Amino acid sequence: MILIHRLRAVVFVVMCVGFVTLGVAAFLQRGRPAPTVEVAALSRGAIPHPPPHAAPAPASPGEDCGQPRLFAPAAQDNAVGLATLAVAPFGVGETGWAVYAPMAAREIASSCAPDAPGFAAALARWQAAHGLSGGGRMDAPTLSTLSTVWLLRRPFVLLSRKACPPPPDLSSLARADPAEAYGGKVVLARPAALAAFRRMASALRAVVPEAPPLTIASAFRGVDEEAARCADGRCGSPGKARCSAHRTGLAFDLLLGAAPGSDPFSTDPANRLYQAGTPTYRWLVANADRFGFVNYPYEPWHWEWTGEAV
Ligand SMILES: [Zn+2]
Repeated sequence: MILIHRLRAVVFVVMCVGFVTLGVAAFLQRGRPAPTVEVAALSRGAIPHPPPHAAPAPASPGEDCGQPRLFAPAAQDNAVGLATLAVAPFGVGETGWAVYAPMAAREIASSCAPDAPGFAAALARWQAAHGLSGGGRMDAPTLSTLSTVWLLRRPFVLLSRKACPPPPDLSSLARADPAEAYGGKVVLARPAALAAFRRMASALRAVVPEAPPLTIASAFRGVDEEAARCADGRCGSPGKARCSAHRTGLAFDLLLGAAPGSDPFSTDPANRLYQAGTPTYRWLVANADRFGFVNYPYEPWHWEWTGEAV
């Protein structure tokens, strides 16, 4: 009899723990969007190699940015949020999302300004397709999902989650011409990546003649060089000291100019916002995928070539 009582008590305790666990899980999930297929795959670490890095669809040529008026209130909120929304898509708290507006417009297939009803309508469609409920208003969950989609296009990030890739043999790298290198520096990269850069720079020159020639400030950085930069506080995060994309010979830091008084590679918000507004960056956002390049949007200058295994 005592044994039966004890057994009942154990079953009761197990059931209570189960209900509490389910309740906590439901609470934590409250208000979160349903994960997309890509986000779910990322959290499982089940990313195929090479990863799917299909570019987003281009904007429809017939897009009317002033319509539909139904989205005018969302557009007004977006106009305010561009400079005021509290977000942290890359783990660093930021105020406003204007720096991400070109990448967001490209992703949602809109050619409208980010404060236009047409942009809000396209954003609402994208949000609905990704299980988000913003209704055309940019918000922190939407920007977080966008950042995950952008991250999924970067093979280096996906692979370095498992193991840091070894650097290529120095003798296998090609040197950029002095005219292609910022300040005539020695810039080394994988030959196919450098060839792709040259095709992209030449296309930019042909269609955006007002843009300055595209130059590379840095590409391959060896393990020792990266460690020295990080020791000087110039590498942004401790993770880069351990494993930077520049060790692959596939990553390029391009010169996009700088906000007055800023270093061209400063993550200062004013500098990043300045660069996001340049004709060169806007052209790159719209076209670089045709040449195999993807951006790390927290650093407008940082592009990675995806045409070869990391
Ligand atoms: Zn970089």
